[in-house]
Amino acid sequence: MRRLCIWLAAMVVVFSAAPLRAQEHLKVVASFSILADFVRNVGGDRVDVTTLVGANGDVHVYTPAPTDAKKVADARLVIVNGLGLEGWLPRLLQSPGSKAAIVTATEDISPLKLGSQADPHAWQSVQNAKTYVENIRDALVEADAADADYFRTHAQAYLAELDGLDSEVRAAIDKIPPERRKVISTHDAFAYFSRDYGIAFVAPLGVSTESEPSARDIATIIAQVRKDKIPAVFLENISDDRLMRRISQETGAKIGGTLYSDSLTDENGPVPTYIALVRHNIKALTSALAP
Ligand code: ZN
Repeated sequence: MRRLCIWLAAMVVVFSAAPLRAQEHLKVVASFSILADFVRNVGGDRVDVTTLVGANGDVHVYTPAPTDAKKVADARLVIVNGLGLEGWLPRLLQSPGSKAAIVTATEDISPLKLGSQADPHAWQSVQNAKTYVENIRDALVEADAADADYFRTHAQAYLAELDGLDSEVRAAIDKIPPERRKVISTHDAFAYFSRDYGIAFVAPLGVSTESEPSARDIATIIAQVRKDKIPAVFLENISDDRLMRRISQETGAKIGGTLYSDSLTDENGPVPTYIALVRHNIKALTSALAP
């Protein structure tokens, strides 16, 4: 009996040690690559981040892979954008056995509207990106209190970098003459960028990459490019570029290069991080729109 008691006491110790021990990593799933980058910047080597929609993937139209259910089942936290971006996610979260807490990174951000829907692309405002990072920091601290100081320190350093990035964007846009601050982009991913930094974007695909523009939509866009003398059209890494090439050919607006909207590239590509993505986009915009 005494032996049994000691054994039971030992088991209680083992199970109540469920909070993470130093060598264990907090397992976090991020719905797409930009969120994963935020998690890495806050979580450093204390987290183990898995991404569902990987590099160059299109988060609007993703079909979960069978392995995704396992990733979610193994995770302590699942970080999502929300605002209707991940329409494919609810079914995946119903997978049996998952005890992951769902963290909405856009919590406290007031969304822009596109028609009756929320515009999900809130990360294109660097100020909003800071809110994402604060929400992720708070979720990591709650899930792993032992590493709270580590997460807070890393978040603070990264938030300071984002402040610097925001100033860089403003300084770059200031150099573009106001009458040239307008471009065509494939889908409506830049409304937050537009609001914060004053570049007008016109997008033939609307808010999601799911819909195909009609012949009439395309004719409207072409007429608008001519009327407003829009200097450049931009391609994106997640969309078919034939439409943009056609608009460019018919209007003489130049192809300004690629804008990265919803997805990072892999390590070897030009935008493996969020900061690299924003820097790439402002460089592409300023070189296409400079007089
Ligand atoms: Zn998008």
